[in-house]
Amino acid sequence: MPTKKKPTDLLIPPRGMHDILPKETPLWDKLIETTREIADFYNFSRIETPIAERVELFERGVGETTDIVEKEMYFLKTKGGDRLVLRPEMTAPVMRSYLQNGLHRLPQPQRLYYFGPAFRYERPQAGRYRQFHQFGFEIVGGDSDPVYDAEIIAASYRLIESLKIKPLIIEISSIGCRICRPGYRKKLIDYYRGKEICRDCARRLKTNPLRLLDCKKEACQPIKADAPSILDSLCSPCRSHLKQVLESLEEMGLPYTLNPLLVRGLDYYNRTVFEIFVQEEVVGLALASGGRYDYLAEMIGGRPTPGVGVAGGAERIIELMMARRDEIKLPKPRVKIFLVHIGDLAKKRSLALIEEFRRSNIGVISALGKNSLSEQLETANKVGSPLALILGQREVYEESIILRDMQTGVQESVPLKKVVEEVKKRLK
Ligand SMILES: [Zn+2]
Ligand SMILES: [Zn+2]
Repeated sequence: MPTKKKPTDLLIPPRGMHDILPKETPLWDKLIETTREIADFYNFSRIETPIAERVELFERGVGETTDIVEKEMYFLKTKGGDRLVLRPEMTAPVMRSYLQNGLHRLPQPQRLYYFGPAFRYERPQAGRYRQFHQFGFEIVGGDSDPVYDAEIIAASYRLIESLKIKPLIIEISSIGCRICRPGYRKKLIDYYRGKEICRDCARRLKTNPLRLLDCKKEACQPIKADAPSILDSLCSPCRSHLKQVLESLEEMGLPYTLNPLLVRGLDYYNRTVFEIFVQEEVVGLALASGGRYDYLAEMIGGRPTPGVGVAGGAERIIELMMARRDEIKLPKPRVKIFLVHIGDLAKKRSLALIEEFRRSNIGVISALGKNSLSEQLETANKVGSPLALILGQREVYEESIILRDMQTGVQESVPLKKVVEEVKKRLK
């Protein structure tokens, strides 16, 4: 028998998922708009992929031994028997779309950006949700030129910075390539073998040794600190790639620190990996992170295609924007006039009048659900309308309307026919 839930349970959203309320949406709009502006400046075009994808896309693309694929995916089984997942990230879907839709036949590289929800079944905690939103920039195709890595970092850095979140620091490293990574992997395994490590690390040692450097457990920290650095194992093309990325960052005046312990939790990265943090805030929460993924296309069954990208966490950034609300310039709501009605006849006539204002692009607020004059005028004051229009029964009969200057209280009657014109004059 299904257990009977208390009625209030229905009112709580699923664990780790949240509502975005009207008081927060101006900040969301600001973030989305700023993303659009930055994307426009750096010439990224918007791409949208479905919320659900086939399981294999992430198993192969993100990697079967990553936390995301091992523990955090939301599975769906369709009636037709397809196994789908709610996308845990957007890079693999963007690459799938690029390959499937022939974007490789367009001028290369393709510069793409997105903004939307993603899903991970992880333990909800401060700043982490199961349904969260990401913005991202991707440069796909063309050459594996280090300047693209720098451009991706710059776009995400400038976006966050222009939301008054600073000072920012970029942590960056290289995780090498197919040529040099196996050697480092071996060094790491040799180093870790026989050491006292946590259970997760013992497992990583077998499945995904690079992720040993990801361990957050206290006991593993001293071992991690003395581990061989990947930077000493890079092959010469990888070393030169990293050097050129760093030089480009310097050229653009972007501050970075090299952090050889930075391995990102996804299999598709090669060479450049980076994370962007705000200083003096909660430690360990990156606002944006990304890297180069030259092997991803092949991993999901496409032709070899270089790529580099970044994804940023909208919820974390919104939280920081909240704290800076006064500094952030939000678009001013447009001035609207207030339409007051007295009586049923006027209420009805108001509907047509509102449409007339809409056609003339004049903003109107009305309180058609409220009938008392004083209540309506009070609302007009609260919303700060400079001008109220009062339509009573007599006015409807006389085809006129009263204009009331809300600041001075001065009223005058004008013919209904001319009201749009008169309002336009006064709003100037
Ligand atoms: Zn290499
Ligand atoms: Zn560990």
